Amino acid sequence: MGARLRVDGRELLGFCSNDYLGLSHHPEVIEALVHAAQRGVGSGASHLVSGHSAEHQALEEELADFVGRERAVLFSTGYMANLGVIGALAGRRGLVVEDRLNHASLIDAGLLSGAKLLRYAHGDTVAAETAFGAARKGAAGSDATRGQRVLVTDGLFSMDGDLAPLPELARIAAAKNAWLVVDDAHGLGVLGASGRGIVEHFGLSVRETPVLVGTLGKAFGTFGAFVAGDAALCEWLIQKARTYIYTTALPPALAAATRKALALAAAESWRRERLRSHVATFRKEALGMGLQLMKSDSPIQPLLLGSAERALAASQALEDLGLWVAAIRPPTVPKNNARLRITFSASHDSADTARLCEALADLKRRGLV
Ligand SMILES: *Cc1c(COP(=O)(O)O)cnc(C)c1O
Repeated sequence: MGARLRVDGRELLGFCSNDYLGLSHHPEVIEALVHAAQRGVGSGASHLVSGHSAEHQALEEELADFVGRERAVLFSTGYMANLGVIGALAGRRGLVVEDRLNHASLIDAGLLSGAKLLRYAHGDTVAAETAFGAARKGAAGSDATRGQRVLVTDGLFSMDGDLAPLPELARIAAAKNAWLVVDDAHGLGVLGASGRGIVEHFGLSVRETPVLVGTLGKAFGTFGAFVAGDAALCEWLIQKARTYIYTTALPPALAAATRKALALAAAESWRRERLRSHVATFRKEALGMGLQLMKSDSPIQPLLLGSAERALAASQALEDLGLWVAAIRPPTVPKNNARLRITFSASHDSADTARLCEALADLKRRGLV
Protein backbone atom coordinates (compact mmCIF):
# COMPACT_ATOMS: atom_id res chain seq x y z
CA MET A 1 0.00 0.00 0.00
CA GLY A 2 1.06 3.62 0.19
CA ALA A 3 2.59 4.40 -3.18
CA ARG A 4 0.69 1.54 -4.86
CA LEU A 5 -2.69 2.68 -6.08
CA ARG A 6 -5.53 0.70 -7.63
CA VAL A 7 -6.98 2.64 -10.54
CA ASP A 8 -9.82 1.03 -12.52
CA GLY A 9 -8.75 -2.42 -11.41
CA ARG A 10 -5.10 -1.93 -12.31
CA GLU A 11 -2.21 -1.34 -9.90
CA LEU A 12 -0.14 1.77 -10.53
CA LEU A 13 3.00 2.87 -8.74
CA GLY A 14 2.37 6.48 -7.78
CA PHE A 15 4.91 9.31 -7.77
CA CYS A 16 2.39 12.09 -7.29
CA SER A 17 1.08 12.22 -3.74
CA ASN A 18 2.17 14.55 -0.94
CA ASP A 19 2.33 11.65 1.53
CA TYR A 20 6.07 12.30 1.82
CA LEU A 21 6.71 10.26 4.95
CA GLY A 22 4.39 7.41 3.98
CA LEU A 23 2.26 7.90 7.09
CA SER A 24 -1.20 7.95 5.49
CA HIS A 25 -1.35 4.15 5.54
CA HIS A 26 0.60 3.53 8.73
CA PRO A 27 -1.15 0.83 10.80
CA GLU A 28 -0.78 2.78 14.05
CA VAL A 29 -2.28 5.91 12.48
CA ILE A 30 -5.20 3.88 11.14
CA GLU A 31 -5.64 2.21 14.52
CA ALA A 32 -5.69 5.59 16.29
CA LEU A 33 -8.38 6.84 13.91
CA VAL A 34 -10.55 3.74 14.25
CA HIS A 35 -10.18 3.58 18.01
CA ALA A 36 -11.11 7.25 18.50
CA ALA A 37 -14.01 7.02 16.03
CA GLN A 38 -15.63 4.43 18.25
CA ARG A 39 -16.34 7.25 20.67
CA GLY A 40 -18.12 9.23 17.94
CA VAL A 41 -17.47 10.67 14.50
CA GLY A 42 -18.45 14.32 14.24
CA SER A 43 -17.29 17.05 16.60
CA GLY A 44 -20.85 18.39 16.60
CA ALA A 45 -20.03 22.11 16.65
CA SER A 46 -17.40 24.75 16.06
CA HIS A 47 -14.40 25.04 18.40
CA LEU A 48 -15.82 28.07 20.21
CA VAL A 49 -19.15 26.41 20.93
CA SER A 50 -18.62 22.80 22.05
CA GLY A 51 -16.61 21.19 19.25
CA HIS A 52 -13.18 21.60 20.84
CA SER A 53 -12.44 18.16 22.33
CA ALA A 54 -9.60 16.89 24.50
CA GLU A 55 -8.07 15.32 21.34
CA HIS A 56 -8.04 18.71 19.59
CA GLN A 57 -6.49 20.34 22.63
CA ALA A 58 -3.80 17.68 22.93
CA LEU A 59 -3.00 17.89 19.22
CA GLU A 60 -2.68 21.69 19.37
CA GLU A 61 -0.27 21.38 22.28
CA GLU A 62 1.79 18.67 20.57
CA LEU A 63 1.95 20.64 17.30
CA ALA A 64 3.08 23.76 19.16
CA ASP A 65 5.71 21.70 20.91
CA PHE A 66 6.89 20.12 17.62
CA VAL A 67 7.45 23.48 15.95
CA GLY A 68 8.77 25.12 19.11
CA ARG A 69 6.02 27.73 19.51
CA GLU A 70 3.93 28.84 22.45
CA ARG A 71 0.68 27.78 20.92
CA ALA A 72 -1.06 26.37 17.84
CA VAL A 73 -4.64 26.73 16.57
CA LEU A 74 -6.26 23.99 14.48
CA PHE A 75 -8.12 24.75 11.25
CA SER A 76 -10.14 22.33 9.14
CA THR A 77 -7.95 22.71 6.04
CA GLY A 78 -4.86 24.57 4.93
CA TYR A 79 -7.01 26.61 2.59
CA MET A 80 -9.08 27.79 5.53
CA ALA A 81 -6.06 28.39 7.76
CA ASN A 82 -4.64 30.75 5.14
CA LEU A 83 -7.92 32.61 4.62
CA GLY A 84 -8.24 32.91 8.38
CA VAL A 85 -4.77 34.05 9.31
CA ILE A 86 -4.23 36.56 6.51
CA GLY A 87 -7.70 38.07 6.92
CA ALA A 88 -7.19 38.37 10.66
CA LEU A 89 -3.73 39.95 10.38
CA ALA A 90 -4.16 42.29 7.41
CA GLY A 91 -7.69 43.56 7.81
CA ARG A 92 -9.32 45.66 5.11
CA ARG A 93 -6.90 48.54 5.45
CA GLY A 94 -3.74 46.47 5.43
CA LEU A 95 -1.14 45.60 2.84
CA VAL A 96 -0.43 42.02 1.78
CA VAL A 97 2.76 41.29 -0.21
CA GLU A 98 3.06 37.83 -1.74
CA ASP A 99 5.38 35.74 -3.90
CA ARG A 100 3.74 35.36 -7.31
CA LEU A 101 3.97 31.56 -7.08
CA ASN A 102 2.38 31.28 -3.64
CA HIS A 103 -0.28 28.59 -3.25
CA ALA A 104 -3.72 29.59 -4.56
CA SER A 105 -5.15 29.64 -1.04
CA LEU A 106 -2.64 32.34 -0.03
CA ILE A 107 -3.44 34.44 -3.08
CA ASP A 108 -7.18 34.03 -2.45
CA ALA A 109 -6.60 34.95 1.18
CA GLY A 110 -4.90 38.17 0.11
CA LEU A 111 -7.75 39.00 -2.26
CA LEU A 112 -10.52 38.14 0.19
CA SER A 113 -8.93 40.08 3.03
CA GLY A 114 -9.88 43.30 1.27
CA ALA A 115 -6.36 44.59 1.91
CA LYS A 116 -4.16 45.96 -0.85
CA LEU A 117 -2.48 42.94 -2.48
CA LEU A 118 0.87 43.18 -4.26
CA ARG A 119 2.68 40.22 -5.79
CA TYR A 120 6.42 40.06 -6.48
CA ALA A 121 8.30 37.89 -8.99
CA HIS A 122 9.06 34.43 -7.61
CA GLY A 123 11.88 34.52 -5.08
CA ASP A 124 12.76 38.14 -5.91
CA THR A 125 13.55 39.68 -2.53
CA VAL A 126 14.42 43.07 -4.01
CA ALA A 127 10.94 43.24 -5.54
CA ALA A 128 9.43 42.10 -2.24
CA GLU A 129 11.16 44.89 -0.36
CA THR A 130 10.27 47.47 -3.00
CA ALA A 131 6.59 46.49 -2.80
CA PHE A 132 6.40 47.88 0.73
CA GLY A 133 8.12 51.10 -0.25
CA ALA A 134 6.08 51.53 -3.41
CA ALA A 135 2.85 50.93 -1.59
CA ARG A 136 3.67 53.51 1.03
CA LYS A 137 4.35 56.18 -1.58
CA GLY A 138 1.43 55.28 -3.82
CA ALA A 139 -0.94 55.33 -0.89
CA ALA A 140 0.03 58.79 0.37
CA GLY A 141 -3.08 60.60 1.41
CA SER A 142 -5.17 57.45 1.56
CA ASP A 143 -5.34 55.02 4.43
CA ALA A 144 -4.86 51.97 2.22
CA THR A 145 -1.75 50.77 4.02
CA ARG A 146 -2.24 52.14 7.47
CA GLY A 147 -3.51 48.78 8.67
CA GLN A 148 -1.29 45.78 9.21
CA ARG A 149 1.43 44.83 6.76
CA VAL A 150 1.86 41.16 5.95
CA LEU A 151 4.59 39.45 3.92
CA VAL A 152 3.45 36.01 2.83
CA THR A 153 5.37 33.10 1.35
CA ASP A 154 5.22 29.36 0.79
CA GLY A 155 8.15 27.64 2.53
CA LEU A 156 8.79 24.88 0.01
CA PHE A 157 7.05 25.79 -3.26
CA SER A 158 4.64 23.08 -4.24
CA MET A 159 5.10 23.09 -8.01
CA ASP A 160 8.81 23.97 -8.32
CA GLY A 161 10.15 22.20 -5.24
CA ASP A 162 12.42 25.13 -4.39
CA LEU A 163 12.71 26.99 -1.08
CA ALA A 164 11.69 30.54 -0.26
CA PRO A 165 14.67 32.83 0.48
CA LEU A 166 13.43 32.88 4.06
CA PRO A 167 16.39 34.51 5.88
CA GLU A 168 16.18 37.51 3.55
CA LEU A 169 12.37 37.67 3.74
CA ALA A 170 12.62 37.64 7.54
CA ARG A 171 15.02 40.58 7.39
CA ILE A 172 12.66 42.50 5.06
CA ALA A 173 9.62 41.81 7.23
CA ALA A 174 11.46 43.13 10.29
CA ALA A 175 12.73 46.20 8.42
CA LYS A 176 9.29 46.99 7.01
CA ASN A 177 7.44 46.31 10.25
CA ALA A 178 5.42 43.55 8.60
CA TRP A 179 4.17 40.20 9.85
CA LEU A 180 5.94 37.34 8.09
CA VAL A 181 3.56 34.47 7.35
CA VAL A 182 5.25 31.23 6.24
CA ASP A 183 3.06 28.47 4.84
CA ASP A 184 5.26 25.40 5.25
CA ALA A 185 2.70 22.89 3.96
CA HIS A 186 5.32 20.91 2.05
CA GLY A 187 8.30 21.47 4.32
CA LEU A 188 6.96 20.32 7.68
CA GLY A 189 7.95 16.78 8.52
CA VAL A 190 10.37 16.81 5.59
CA LEU A 191 12.92 19.63 5.88
CA GLY A 192 15.39 20.06 8.69
CA ALA A 193 17.20 17.33 10.59
CA SER A 194 14.18 16.69 12.82
CA GLY A 195 11.47 17.58 10.31
CA ARG A 196 10.58 20.96 11.83
CA GLY A 197 10.50 22.36 8.31
CA ILE A 198 11.99 25.34 6.54
CA VAL A 199 12.52 27.33 9.74
CA GLU A 200 14.75 24.57 11.09
CA HIS A 201 16.42 24.15 7.69
CA PHE A 202 17.61 27.77 7.76
CA GLY A 203 18.19 27.85 11.51
CA LEU A 204 15.83 30.83 11.95
CA SER A 205 14.31 31.90 15.24
CA VAL A 206 10.66 32.00 16.22
CA ARG A 207 10.96 35.79 16.49
CA GLU A 208 12.08 36.01 12.85
CA THR A 209 9.23 33.78 11.66
CA PRO A 210 6.33 34.67 13.97
CA VAL A 211 3.47 33.09 11.98
CA LEU A 212 3.81 29.50 10.81
CA VAL A 213 1.09 27.68 8.85
CA GLY A 214 1.26 23.91 8.54
CA THR A 215 -1.03 21.39 6.91
CA LEU A 216 -1.71 17.89 8.13
CA GLY A 217 -2.76 16.28 4.84
CA LYS A 218 0.76 16.14 3.41
CA ALA A 219 3.75 14.72 5.30
CA PHE A 220 1.60 13.87 8.33
CA GLY A 221 -0.71 11.82 6.12
CA THR A 222 -4.04 12.84 7.68
CA PHE A 223 -6.15 15.98 7.22
CA GLY A 224 -6.46 19.49 8.61
CA ALA A 225 -4.10 22.37 9.31
CA PHE A 226 -2.80 24.68 11.99
CA VAL A 227 -1.30 28.07 12.62
CA ALA A 228 1.43 28.29 15.27
CA GLY A 229 2.86 31.33 16.98
CA ASP A 230 2.89 33.11 20.30
CA ALA A 231 -0.07 33.13 22.67
CA ALA A 232 -1.21 36.63 21.68
CA LEU A 233 -1.26 35.76 17.98
CA CYS A 234 -3.24 32.58 18.61
CA GLU A 235 -5.72 34.42 20.82
CA TRP A 236 -6.16 37.01 18.06
CA LEU A 237 -6.88 34.23 15.53
CA ILE A 238 -9.45 32.63 17.79
CA GLN A 239 -11.23 35.98 18.10
CA LYS A 240 -10.84 37.15 14.49
CA ALA A 241 -10.23 34.32 12.01
CA ARG A 242 -13.62 33.75 10.40
CA THR A 243 -12.63 30.33 9.01
CA TYR A 244 -11.86 29.24 12.57
CA ILE A 245 -14.98 30.68 14.17
CA TYR A 246 -17.67 29.84 11.64
CA THR A 247 -17.02 26.22 10.85
CA THR A 248 -17.37 22.80 12.45
CA ALA A 249 -14.28 21.52 14.25
CA LEU A 250 -12.47 18.55 12.66
CA PRO A 251 -13.68 15.10 13.71
CA PRO A 252 -11.79 14.36 16.96
CA ALA A 253 -10.73 10.97 15.57
CA LEU A 254 -8.72 12.83 12.92
CA ALA A 255 -6.98 14.73 15.69
CA ALA A 256 -6.20 11.42 17.40
CA ALA A 257 -4.80 9.95 14.17
CA THR A 258 -2.72 13.07 13.60
CA ARG A 259 -1.25 12.87 17.10
CA LYS A 260 0.01 9.40 16.25
CA ALA A 261 1.33 10.53 12.85
CA LEU A 262 3.11 13.48 14.45
CA ALA A 263 4.79 11.24 17.01
CA LEU A 264 5.98 8.91 14.23
CA ALA A 265 7.18 11.81 12.07
CA ALA A 266 9.19 13.21 14.98
CA ALA A 267 10.66 9.90 16.12
CA GLU A 268 11.40 8.10 12.86
CA SER A 269 14.04 10.18 11.13
CA TRP A 270 14.83 7.21 8.86
CA ARG A 271 11.77 8.32 6.87
CA ARG A 272 13.44 11.65 6.05
CA GLU A 273 16.75 9.93 5.32
CA ARG A 274 15.10 7.47 2.97
CA LEU A 275 13.32 10.29 1.18
CA ARG A 276 16.62 12.17 0.72
CA SER A 277 18.28 9.06 -0.61
CA HIS A 278 15.49 8.52 -3.22
CA VAL A 279 15.81 12.14 -4.32
CA ALA A 280 19.61 11.93 -4.61
CA THR A 281 19.44 8.70 -6.65
CA PHE A 282 16.74 10.08 -8.91
CA ARG A 283 18.54 13.36 -9.59
CA LYS A 284 21.79 11.62 -10.41
CA GLU A 285 20.08 9.25 -12.86
CA ALA A 286 17.80 11.85 -14.44
CA LEU A 287 20.53 14.45 -14.89
CA GLY A 288 22.74 11.72 -16.34
CA MET A 289 20.06 11.09 -18.96
CA GLY A 290 19.94 14.81 -19.75
CA LEU A 291 16.43 15.36 -18.41
CA GLN A 292 15.43 18.92 -17.59
CA LEU A 293 15.01 18.97 -13.84
CA MET A 294 14.56 22.11 -11.78
CA LYS A 295 16.78 23.33 -8.95
CA SER A 296 15.26 21.30 -6.14
CA ASP A 297 16.66 19.08 -3.43
CA SER A 298 13.20 18.40 -2.04
CA PRO A 299 10.90 15.42 -2.63
CA ILE A 300 9.15 17.55 -5.27
CA GLN A 301 11.09 16.99 -8.51
CA PRO A 302 9.47 18.69 -11.50
CA LEU A 303 10.47 17.54 -14.97
CA LEU A 304 9.97 20.50 -17.31
CA LEU A 305 8.38 19.65 -20.65
CA GLY A 306 7.02 22.95 -22.01
CA SER A 307 3.65 22.51 -23.65
CA ALA A 308 0.62 21.03 -21.95
CA GLU A 309 0.37 18.43 -24.76
CA ARG A 310 3.90 17.22 -24.15
CA ALA A 311 3.31 16.91 -20.41
CA LEU A 312 0.06 15.01 -20.94
CA ALA A 313 1.66 12.65 -23.46
CA ALA A 314 4.52 11.88 -21.06
CA SER A 315 2.12 11.29 -18.20
CA GLN A 316 0.07 8.91 -20.40
CA ALA A 317 3.19 7.02 -21.54
CA LEU A 318 4.21 6.52 -17.91
CA GLU A 319 0.74 5.30 -17.06
CA ASP A 320 1.00 2.75 -19.87
CA LEU A 321 4.14 1.52 -18.08
CA GLY A 322 2.26 1.24 -14.78
CA LEU A 323 3.38 4.51 -13.20
CA TRP A 324 1.24 7.40 -12.09
CA VAL A 325 2.87 10.83 -12.38
CA ALA A 326 0.69 13.90 -12.67
CA ALA A 327 1.02 16.36 -15.55
CA ILE A 328 0.78 19.91 -14.21
CA ARG A 329 -0.41 22.47 -16.71
CA PRO A 330 -1.35 26.15 -16.85
CA PRO A 331 -2.97 27.87 -15.00
CA THR A 332 -1.43 25.93 -12.09
CA VAL A 333 1.99 26.77 -13.58
CA PRO A 334 2.95 29.57 -16.03
CA LYS A 335 2.42 29.13 -19.79
CA ASN A 336 4.99 26.87 -21.52
CA ASN A 337 6.02 25.57 -18.11
CA ALA A 338 3.94 22.41 -18.15
CA ARG A 339 5.71 19.60 -16.37
CA LEU A 340 5.56 16.24 -14.74
CA ARG A 341 5.47 16.78 -11.00
CA ILE A 342 7.33 13.79 -9.61
CA THR A 343 7.12 13.38 -5.84
CA PHE A 344 8.87 10.88 -3.63
CA SER A 345 7.73 9.20 -0.43
CA ALA A 346 9.35 7.18 2.31
CA SER A 347 6.90 4.45 1.30
CA HIS A 348 8.84 4.00 -1.96
CA ASP A 349 11.72 1.54 -1.89
CA SER A 350 14.85 1.71 -4.00
CA ALA A 351 13.36 -0.70 -6.57
CA ASP A 352 10.48 1.77 -7.05
CA THR A 353 12.89 4.62 -7.78
CA ALA A 354 14.85 2.38 -10.16
CA ARG A 355 11.62 1.50 -11.97
CA LEU A 356 10.76 5.18 -12.41
CA CYS A 357 14.23 5.90 -13.79
CA GLU A 358 14.00 3.01 -16.26
CA ALA A 359 10.60 4.22 -17.44
CA LEU A 360 11.93 7.74 -17.95
CA ALA A 361 14.89 6.35 -19.89
CA ASP A 362 12.40 4.56 -22.12
CA LEU A 363 10.44 7.79 -22.66
CA LYS A 364 13.68 9.60 -23.41
CA ARG A 365 14.56 7.09 -26.14
CA ARG A 366 11.13 7.71 -27.66
CA GLY A 367 11.62 11.49 -27.57
CA LEU A 368 8.75 11.96 -25.11
CA VAL A 369 10.73 13.73 -22.37
C1 LIG B 1 -1.90 21.94 0.07
C2 LIG B 1 -1.58 23.33 0.43
C3 LIG B 1 -2.52 24.12 1.09
C4 LIG B 1 -3.93 23.66 1.33
O1 LIG B 1 -3.99 22.72 2.35
P1 LIG B 1 -5.31 21.82 2.45
O2 LIG B 1 -5.26 21.28 3.82
O3 LIG B 1 -5.18 20.79 1.38
O4 LIG B 1 -6.47 22.74 2.21
C5 LIG B 1 -2.14 25.37 1.50
N1 LIG B 1 -0.91 25.85 1.23
C6 LIG B 1 0.01 25.13 0.57
C7 LIG B 1 1.35 25.71 0.30
C8 LIG B 1 -0.31 23.86 0.14
O5 LIG B 1 0.59 23.15 -0.55
